[in-house]
Amino acid sequence: MKPLGPIPSGYASRDGQLEIGGMTARELVELAGGTPCFIYSKAHLERRVAELRAAMPARLGINYAVKANPFLPVVTYMARLVDGFDIASAGELVTVMAAGIDPFRVSFAGPGKRDKELEAAIHAGVTLNCESEGEARRTLAIGERLGIAPRIAIRVNPDFELKGSGMKMGGGAKPFGLDAERVPAMAREIIAAGAEWRGLHIFTGSQALSAEAIIEAQANVLDCADRLAHEISTPLPKLNMGGGFGIPYFHGDLPLDIAAIGAALEERFEGLPETLAATELCIELGRYLVGEAGVYLAEAIDRKESHGVTYLITDGGLHHQLAASGNFGTVVRRNYPLAIATRFDADPEEEANVVGCLCTPLDRLADQAHLPRAEVGDLVAVFCAGAYGASASPAQFLGHGPAAELLI
Ligand SMILES: *Cc1c(COP(=O)(O)O)cnc(C)c1O
Repeated sequence: MKPLGPIPSGYASRDGQLEIGGMTARELVELAGGTPCFIYSKAHLERRVAELRAAMPARLGINYAVKANPFLPVVTYMARLVDGFDIASAGELVTVMAAGIDPFRVSFAGPGKRDKELEAAIHAGVTLNCESEGEARRTLAIGERLGIAPRIAIRVNPDFELKGSGMKMGGGAKPFGLDAERVPAMAREIIAAGAEWRGLHIFTGSQALSAEAIIEAQANVLDCADRLAHEISTPLPKLNMGGGFGIPYFHGDLPLDIAAIGAALEERFEGLPETLAATELCIELGRYLVGEAGVYLAEAIDRKESHGVTYLITDGGLHHQLAASGNFGTVVRRNYPLAIATRFDADPEEEANVVGCLCTPLDRLADQAHLPRAEVGDLVAVFCAGAYGASASPAQFLGHGPAAELLI
């Protein structure tokens, strides 16, 4: 037996089935046009952002990192809930424009922006978080050619990182951002060239569940920004403090203590140095905002025994849920939260391996899971599917095609 990850709060049962937004799993599948499908909950998104706002200082802006879930209805819905949007490609720029989001609320990071992408961003009026001197100079040159003063911030590669972070993106040599000591000279060059100086972006890591680690990283970010603003000799217009707020995926993971983070930030905000006194401050979150709001539903299409092991074979798999299969940035495969959605309040009574329909041994959704006995036709729910699911999985692999997505 291997434990399953914890089912996020807010998921209830009705008539023995998983219920989301007032509908049962079977009703949702019908509405989505069949399995497999992703169901994203508006109520969940709304509650999540409201709880976060209540915990954070009022001054702190909350940005949504579109890469976590670029499904247009989700992005459009998030526009009413959050302050800003972080994009990382021209494709995501098209998405935020289609969602009707004011380009002034959007910033564009990412280590390999092509001239065409820079041009589209300058035209649209989004802020470019430049990741190197070369990129900043290309941005200035394109702005000059277009006769538009580009909005430019610098992404800093800081000398520290978010401890316990799932994916480290700061500290030491990195393809992301400009090494901190080279930032002041480049900032002065950007300002002297007549661009609109939009400040700094300091991202230190992802998927941290330790409030202390995030508090420490945020303190380091504020100190680093103060130091750099001094050297640039201009108060900072804006500081994107990064994110890194994680969600529990695996057995033993505990939810992040956002109250502790908010209290520590409040204290820091009360005594900010002059360089940051009037600075617009924000954090950028992806999975924390949308991860738990999504559920992936697949149908059991076969049930078989092999050498005494029970396999529940579904019509879903790693082509939609690569992360749940353990093949997206994890070293040791552990089970995501998973349930039999059509027997949601039944007691577990057997050990089963839940797999996908792809012809590869990598396609596993749950190993040796303790579950109610499921039959062909039952629905399987994989939780924490709202972030890095549909868009972060190889939907073309093996030709089964993409899953339906539905925001309710
Ligand atoms: C990926 C990314 C995010 C979002 O990360 P989450 O772990 O989903 O919160 C935010 N900012 C930057 C710069 C990123 O690359």
